[in-house]
Amino acid sequence: QPELSGDFGRLMEWADRTRRMKVRTNAETPADARAARSFGAEGIGLCRTEHMFFEGSRINVMREMILAEDEAGRRASLAKLLPMQRSDFAELFEIMHGLPVTIRMLDPPLHEFLPKSDEEIAEVAAALSIEEAVLRRRVDTLHEFNPMLGHRGCRLAISYPEIAEMQARAIFEAAVEAAKKTGAAVVPEIMVPLVGLKAELDYVKARIEAVAKAVIAESGVKIDYLVGTMIELPRAALRAHVIAESAEFFSFGTNDLTQTTFGISRDDASAFLSTYIQKGIVEQDPFVQLDFDGVGELIRIAAERGRRTRNDLKLGICGEHGGDPASIHFCEDAGLDYVSCSPFRVPIARLAAAQAAFNNGKV
Ligand code: PEP
Ligand code: MG
Repeated sequence: QPELSGDFGRLMEWADRTRRMKVRTNAETPADARAARSFGAEGIGLCRTEHMFFEGSRINVMREMILAEDEAGRRASLAKLLPMQRSDFAELFEIMHGLPVTIRMLDPPLHEFLPKSDEEIAEVAAALSIEEAVLRRRVDTLHEFNPMLGHRGCRLAISYPEIAEMQARAIFEAAVEAAKKTGAAVVPEIMVPLVGLKAELDYVKARIEAVAKAVIAESGVKIDYLVGTMIELPRAALRAHVIAESAEFFSFGTNDLTQTTFGISRDDASAFLSTYIQKGIVEQDPFVQLDFDGVGELIRIAAERGRRTRNDLKLGICGEHGGDPASIHFCEDAGLDYVSCSPFRVPIARLAAAQAAFNNGKV
C-alpha cells in the first residue's frame, strides 16, 4: 500500500488543516479505493459502474442482457448480475468505512459492450450460443452515428428501467450488508448521469425510491441515501434551479460538460487541439484545465441557481479537472464542497485545495 509519511505526510497534514473542500476519489475497484484511502481520499466521488461489467465472464452476461428479446429476458440476465454488483458495492462501502460513496448509474451506450470486428462477433456468438447473423443484426441495430450524444446516461435508465432497478437494489442491499459488517453507517449517494431535464431525473429517481422502499421493508434496516445528478449538459446548468428541486447533490462531469459546451468530441480532440495550442487559438487543452470563461461560467450559474432552490445542495466535481490544480482553485472560488479525482492525484488535490483556500483568505 502506498503511504504518505515523513515530511510529505506532515505537509499533507498542514494542507488538510487549511483546506475547506473535501477531496474524494474516482474509483470502482477495491485496489483503487484502497490506494486512494491511503493517499487521504475522503470518500468516492465517482464510481463508474460500467467498468464492473467488463470483468471476466460478466461481460457475456451483460451481452446476454443487451441481446435479450424482451424485458423478461433482460430481467433474467440482470438477476445473474445482481449478486455480483452487490458484492462490488459492499466491498467499496467496507473500504470507505462510513465515508461518502457516490455510485453512478450505467452511463455508456450499450453497444460499447458488444463485439465490433467480424472475428469478435464470431467469438461472442459461439460463447453465447447464438447465430452470428443474429448477433450482427443486433449490433447493427444499436449502431449510433454520434454515440456520445446518443442513447446513454439516464436515457438508458428511461428505456430500460430494469437496469437502474437492478443497480439500485445492489446498492441498497450492499449498504445493509456493509453497515452490519463494519458497524459504520453507510449513506449511498446515487448519481444519475447525463440529465438535461428535471423529468428525466424524476423518472429515474422514482424507480430508485421504489427499490429503496422494497429493500428497507425486506431487510427491516433503515437506509438513508441521497439521489443526485451529474451536470454534464449546458441545459442542465442553465436549468439547475429546476433540477435542484429533485436533486440532493450535483456533481460536475466536466469531461462531458467541456465536450458539450465546446461541441468538441472528447475522443477526437487530440487530432487538432495541439494545433490550436500551437497557433494560439486556445492557451490550454480545455479537457485538461477547465475553460474558466465558458465551462466555468456554466458551473457558476449551476451552483448559484441550484443553491437558490436548495441552499444545502451538495456540489462536487468528478471530471478529470478535479485533479488539476488550477481547476481546483476555480472550484474553491465557485463554492464547491468537494473535488473528486483519480487515486494518485489525491495528494496534489489536497495541496491545491489548501492553497486555494489560503489564497482566498479563508484561513
Ligand atoms: C464526466 O463526463 O466528466 C465524467 C466524470 O463522466 P465520464 O468521464 O465517465 O463520462
Ligand atoms: Mg460523463
